[in-house]
Amino acid sequence: MTAAGRPYAGTVVTPLVDGFGRVHRDLRISVTDRCNLRCTYCMPEEGMQWLPRDQVLTFEELERVARLAVERFGFESIRLTGGEPTVRAHLPVLVAKLAALGVEVSMTTNGLTLASQAQAYADAGLSRVNISLDTLRPDRFLELTRRDRLADVLAGVDAAVAAGLGPVKLNVVCMRGVNDDEIVDLATFGRDRGVEVRFIEWMPLDEDHSWSPGAVVAGEEIIAAIAAVHPLHPLARGSEPAAVWAYDDGLGTVGAISSVTEPFCGSCDRVRLTAEGALRSCLFSHDETDLRALLRSPASDDDLTSAIAACVAGKRAGHQIGAVTFVQPPRSMSRIGG
Ligand code: SAM
Ligand code: SF4
Repeated sequence: MTAAGRPYAGTVVTPLVDGFGRVHRDLRISVTDRCNLRCTYCMPEEGMQWLPRDQVLTFEELERVARLAVERFGFESIRLTGGEPTVRAHLPVLVAKLAALGVEVSMTTNGLTLASQAQAYADAGLSRVNISLDTLRPDRFLELTRRDRLADVLAGVDAAVAAGLGPVKLNVVCMRGVNDDEIVDLATFGRDRGVEVRFIEWMPLDEDHSWSPGAVVAGEEIIAAIAAVHPLHPLARGSEPAAVWAYDDGLGTVGAISSVTEPFCGSCDRVRLTAEGALRSCLFSHDETDLRALLRSPASDDDLTSAIAACVAGKRAGHQIGAVTFVQPPRSMSRIGG
């Protein structure tokens, strides 16, 4: 691709290719490891060790890495995540800086603050949001997230749609015996609001290592349950992690991210930057590249570009969940950036 139309048109773009020929174009930036919920599948109630603030990358440092990804490697999209990205102060300022790079800027959020902030994010240049919502039952929401905030998330979904942060997608982590009895209710909720619900298989990335294969509800099973009530047909698959189906009656789409039972590592185009500036080529990596050390040294843009390329060059073929050799990475999802 070319950089035509972007502020730095004319710069030579070298696609960021790993040892398996995968081209990387999507940067996930974690802006904080902190969160205002405590989802049981993600982090414990107590005991998280938050990063000291001076270890978290500044907006200027984040913008520099993002600019190099776009300018040198032709990245096309940036997603903000965390922890909970909206707890980072002055986030719209960062959104505006990243949107000025001429790429799509999106965000994954638990939605708690969207009712009051969605318009500010949209005005700053945010394109769209994915909102996490694992249950429609207030008592279960309290149990699952350890906070009584379901009404805020529901208001946030409506606010995101009203602010034009679409297509709005809802992320549902589906777990056996926890919320798998709400699959059809959640899908119906999405159909009624014109938002795509994406069911995500629970991955072994929880802080307290309580994941077990038996708790995973396969995407195939989820889609079959929905199709039994609302008939579906599959849509052609792109580089997106979600396999997407359309409702036969035309009332939108629903997706399944089957990271565990049907890994899509072969088409992965993502690179992740943690809140303290560690670059990771895979959610399940055991290696990472310390970009913060370079950012806070006299290193040049060329030095940073080489470090990013070397990190991606070493990307593994796949995550190997289920293999006897699989070892859960030391970082949990919230300390990577999902
Ligand atoms: N706090 C934001 C949120 O919850 O949307 C953004 C960060 S969160 C880590 C990103 C996404 O990862 C959310 O949709 C969340 O449900 C999902 N997630 C967290 N832990 C997970 C796990 N162990 N397996 C699968 N998905 C997980
Ligand atoms: Fe926070 Fe998101 Fe993890 Fe829930 S999934 S505890 S909202 S970071």
